[in-house]
Amino acid sequence: MTALVGCVPRTATTTSSTVTVDDTAAEVPAATSYWNGLAGWQLFTVVPSGGEVTVHLVDRAVLDEVCDVAELPTAHACTKGGAAPTYHAHCDIYWDGISNGVDPFDSAIASVSVIAHELGHCVGLGHVPPPSVMAALDPRPYPPTDQVLIRGIRH
Ligand SMILES: [Zn+2]
Repeated sequence: MTALVGCVPRTATTTSSTVTVDDTAAEVPAATSYWNGLAGWQLFTVVPSGGEVTVHLVDRAVLDEVCDVAELPTAHACTKGGAAPTYHAHCDIYWDGISNGVDPFDSAIASVSVIAHELGHCVGLGHVPPPSVMAALDPRPYPPTDQVLIRGIRH
């Protein structure tokens, strides 16, 4: 089972109509499309650089340090900054590029789940019980729940 950390529940509020995301990982466009489709509006826009959200692919040692994963050694990503009440602060997603254990049968889909989960944190979503892409452990896309979450964001 894969754990994700850096996941302090936040008040789901944005003051922007669009959150720009650096396209630094191949999974980013699919993850943003997932949320945009459920939101029914262009919540996330992928940009080449300078976005409000940056996805950093880092090695394990960096992840351990930045994300403080000592208590959750199986974590593969975390989020720093972003969301209310300091939405305008830059949101950084740190990810080791590994998603083993989330979905051993389809690593590409699992990787998208990890990025979508962290993007959710960047716009203020906290954890919910599974099934949901915002589940703390074993996040998987589950549109009925995830749509309620993303449509609950005030903007
Ligand atoms: Zn989380």
